[in-house]
Amino acid sequence: MIVMSIERLQNGTYNETEDANTLAAVGALSTGTSGDKETLYLTAYVFSTLMGHESVSDPALLAKYKTIATQIREQLISSKFPFKSEVSQRRKGRLETEGAGGAGAPPSVAELVQYLCRFHCNNFSIHDSQLFTMAEGTFPIGALFNHSCRPNAIVMYEGKVQIVRALEDIEVGQEVCTSYVDNGVQRAERRQLLREKYFFDCLCPRCGDEPQEQQQQRHDDPTVEETAGSLGKKDRMKKTGFRILDDLIEGSQDGVDGKVEGEWLTKQFETIILPGARSLQVVGPSLKPPSTITRVSFTSYIIHSLVPLIQTNAPSQVYTERLFEIYNILQSTPHCTPKPFTTTVMTNATSFFNTCLEHQSWNLASKIGTFVLALYLMIYPRHHPLVGLHCFTLAKSLWNDVDGGMTSVRLSHEILKLSRNILRVSHGTKGENSALVREVEEFMKTVETELGA
Ligand SMILES: [Zn+2]
Repeated sequence: MIVMSIERLQNGTYNETEDANTLAAVGALSTGTSGDKETLYLTAYVFSTLMGHESVSDPALLAKYKTIATQIREQLISSKFPFKSEVSQRRKGRLETEGAGGAGAPPSVAELVQYLCRFHCNNFSIHDSQLFTMAEGTFPIGALFNHSCRPNAIVMYEGKVQIVRALEDIEVGQEVCTSYVDNGVQRAERRQLLREKYFFDCLCPRCGDEPQEQQQQRHDDPTVEETAGSLGKKDRMKKTGFRILDDLIEGSQDGVDGKVEGEWLTKQFETIILPGARSLQVVGPSLKPPSTITRVSFTSYIIHSLVPLIQTNAPSQVYTERLFEIYNILQSTPHCTPKPFTTTVMTNATSFFNTCLEHQSWNLASKIGTFVLALYLMIYPRHHPLVGLHCFTLAKSLWNDVDGGMTSVRLSHEILKLSRNILRVSHGTKGENSALVREVEEFMKTVETELGA
């Protein structure tokens, strides 16, 4: 990771001897640990290269930061921390520390405001292995990874250590991207969040307007334009790949804003979600998904199409191609409005699932959880930790579902295989987070004993 960071730094070459002194200037705010000198120095250097976007930040926020900075500076002065501010002069242009005072003086208020702005634009929510947020922190090297709403890597934590884990096979030369926002929120909301906090417009595989190769092809070949023109504007604008996803989950294509009434949701559960979940009972690696999909069978279609690929660790390309087929099929299938698989429905269903778990309504929870799984598989990368964690909870619910008999126990085992394969990637097989993988494996043994396997 460090080598990659150095290559991506464009405004100077990291020099350990010189940059070691940067610590004096940013020492009080550095997140490195004293146990690893190189990481600490590099972290401090990379921090000095991060963007703070002060010039475009909200004036109210800047005023707040100025107040905080003034207080911090007073505390730094009274702490008598041994700052080496002469370093600042040598680093002129990078840290802009002129006026910071003589030797031994702490950073100026302006510098501290700059640091706070860098924190604001580059901080991470630190979460535990169950994805519960525990704290906020700035990890300068981790902040160098660019964003994608369809990331191929995920940020995880083991204590105070940040770990960037690949979610899929990544080719040599392919960019490694993490996600700065929840991939389960709608495009407009993601765009707003990214613009407000990180000051950019996302052009990732989900958000971009047109695949680059298509633009290039039209540019190079005039007959493509002619053909496209004869197809009409609608077909020309037809999206491919991940670009279809947001149209599907937004439910705004038909002019409906995706707002869901409780009554409508209940009806959907009765007519679509519950029958869909029942068909999971025949899932297995040897079974093929149905060749057609109706408006009531999309849950089982998604589950049948994708679960065997996850259980058998199919290559990323095979999985992605299957996913695109599903998007195309869902796009060309007539659905009721609002659509039954928008993110609004997903949020409602997730909350309903949690309520069922709280009330130990295992049968209903298992069905709702299956529906949620189908939506998660449609929206999140397959090895996303959220998907693995959901599978584990769903498997427990299925196992507890006495009404479902041995069928539920068998289903629980299928879902556990899914959970194990996903968590092995998202949480790893070594280190603190792998405890969860072992927990899943232990539970699998219990279920297998019951199945007599
Ligand atoms: Zn995006």
